[in-house]
Amino acid sequence: MDYELSPRERAWREEVRGFISAHVDDALADETRARGNEGRGPLALAFLEALKARGWWGLAWPQEYGGLGKSAIEQWIFIDEIESAGAPMLPLTVTSVAPTIMRIGNEDQKQDWLPRIQDGEIEFALGYSEAEAGTDLASLRTQAVLDGDEWVVSGAKMWNTMAHHATHNWLAVRTEPDARKHKGISMMIVPMDAPGVSVQPIWVWPGLRTNAVFFDDVRVPRSYLIGERGMGFYYAAMALNFERLSIGSIGMARCHFRALVDEVRTRVVDGRPLREVPWVRERLARLQVEIDAAGMLGLQTAWAQDQGGVPAAESSMAKIQVSELSQRIADEGCEILGLNGQLHADDERALAGGRMQWLYRLSPMLAFGGGTNEVQRDIIGFMGLGLPRK
Ligand SMILES: Cc1cc2nc3c(=O)[nH]c(=O)nc-3n(C[C@H](O)[C@H](O)[C@H](O)COP(=O)(O)OP(=O)(O)OC[C@H]3O[C@@H](n4cnc5c(N)ncnc54)[C@H](O)[C@@H]3O)c2cc1C
Repeated sequence: MDYELSPRERAWREEVRGFISAHVDDALADETRARGNEGRGPLALAFLEALKARGWWGLAWPQEYGGLGKSAIEQWIFIDEIESAGAPMLPLTVTSVAPTIMRIGNEDQKQDWLPRIQDGEIEFALGYSEAEAGTDLASLRTQAVLDGDEWVVSGAKMWNTMAHHATHNWLAVRTEPDARKHKGISMMIVPMDAPGVSVQPIWVWPGLRTNAVFFDDVRVPRSYLIGERGMGFYYAAMALNFERLSIGSIGMARCHFRALVDEVRTRVVDGRPLREVPWVRERLARLQVEIDAAGMLGLQTAWAQDQGGVPAAESSMAKIQVSELSQRIADEGCEILGLNGQLHADDERALAGGRMQWLYRLSPMLAFGGGTNEVQRDIIGFMGLGLPRK
């Protein structure tokens, strides 16, 4: 592939940058970071409305579904720039669930769900994992039984992030109890306000909230099962592939690295400017090279997708590189900035806006979100290198 962007792609990058300089400021970036996943603040809502007004909400959706039909590389550029600026990202509802519904849903389902997703009326929590079924998703036990024209859902989901303000759950359920475990699962949409759904918070290390969600004989229309019965395991894998493509973006790492470099440029420690300290310069330079390399992996993944491929090994490589690089930036940042670099953003003595300690707590999560890095390495082994699966 050619790593140089085409004139059209460069022009698109400039257009996105122009939009960012008009709509993103420090206040929006601070609000986005401070709220984590506790819903969007007023600045984020205004920003997302401005995105929608431009038609950028579904920018990579095909035109027949109301999107702009941008290429995967153009979407990658967009994500890179938006995350670099610290602005709120497009939700996984738009970048992971909607593209899956486009491929697996019947015409009625597409007509029903896609316009409402496009309007921002619907936001999904992703209900795959259970207490005994994370990596081994096929072991999941939450079941749905057909009763006349309705499914009756019962069971529990674990780590159901966003469930406390999502309107719907994109739920993997067992519908074929007698089939082999991979073949017995279906994907279903469950409204969060349906009687019998209850949500309990679970707080995790970065200060973010995820949830345990319980389904107590929840009734949903038969048509809410999306795609074919028994194919849910493969549909979840498809949605996770889309999810990994956006997690593999390097923009967030760039954003935090820039804050670190800005601090090093001006900070004087023990009478000596940090920017003159050889080991500091050497480590920053190394991180910069790694960021550039990770960016190329992301670009390669997008390019492979534009060629009509399913770049599973490439997206796993990009995801591993970005998540582990984020950990390295946090480690090096805390070391370079010393104890004040490890303070929370609320503390006036914090350096780099408190970003290093925040990234330090967040980045382990990036390593297992969307599938753990150990499993991504397995995927690279058998899909990328042709090694035996076991
Ligand atoms: C904060 C947070 C938010 C999350 N949000 C969501 C969400 O919104 N929706 C959702 O569905 N899930 C979510 N998850 C679940 C997440 O995707 C799972 O934690 C992840 O898939 C790992 O599953 P597990 O926790 O069951 O670990 P396990 O599967 O028990 O794995 C434990 C360890 O063993 C390793 N391992 C397991 N099997 C293999 C193998 N075959 N080869 C090599 N190594 C292996 C894993 O890599 C891991 O290091 C979230 C989790 C957390 C903690």
